[in-house]
Amino acid sequence: MKNIMLIAPPAAGKGTQSDLISKKYKIPHISIGDIFRDISKEDTEIGIYIREILSSGKLVKDEITYEVVKERLAKEDCQNGFVIDGFPRNIEQAIHYDEILKSIGQEIGYVISLDIDREILEKRIIGRRICEDCGAIFNINDSENAPTQESVCDNCGGRLYQRSDDNIEAFNTRYQTYLDKTEPIIKHYQEIGVLKHVNGIGSIEEVFQRIENIVGDEK
Ligand SMILES: [Zn+2]
Repeated sequence: MKNIMLIAPPAAGKGTQSDLISKKYKIPHISIGDIFRDISKEDTEIGIYIREILSSGKLVKDEITYEVVKERLAKEDCQNGFVIDGFPRNIEQAIHYDEILKSIGQEIGYVISLDIDREILEKRIIGRRICEDCGAIFNINDSENAPTQESVCDNCGGRLYQRSDDNIEAFNTRYQTYLDKTEPIIKHYQEIGVLKHVNGIGSIEEVFQRIENIVGDEK
């Protein structure tokens, strides 16, 4: 069973790595945000509630989140493992998550902390450029990923723009939230003895290789 949770600061590539793990080991990538978006399209009581919450920018109540997570993880396709993403967001949720897993006969599995220096993330965020036509993502601070011309898309010739929240102030806020909410989760899983550290510096392939070294040999 490969139950995997990645913990990482903003812009560390958590979503990308979660996708790679999901593809390689043929286990579902459980993104709580995506599940909420799907439910919000239903005309059920919970669908209407989540639709309202999402459109107002508020957070879904914990009790509802727990129910949704439990229902999803109990499904057949999660029986050989899954990568959970976007949950738990704080220590209270982590403790509930452990209880949910126990109640459905699942193990915590691997909790992997992607370690990466704040300065690197800062450069990554500030250098990010997105094509307004095809959505391709480039980075002017990363030679492997830089567009040939600073504001032109290499794929389609479209104009590259910077997302409004890809600035230093927004990054600092997100990073501080990460430290406040996520550090206790890391400590919690360290105490339980399931935490692994992975060096998050390097290319997507290099980082994925390090993750594979940890989860790869397990049946
Ligand atoms: Zn483009």
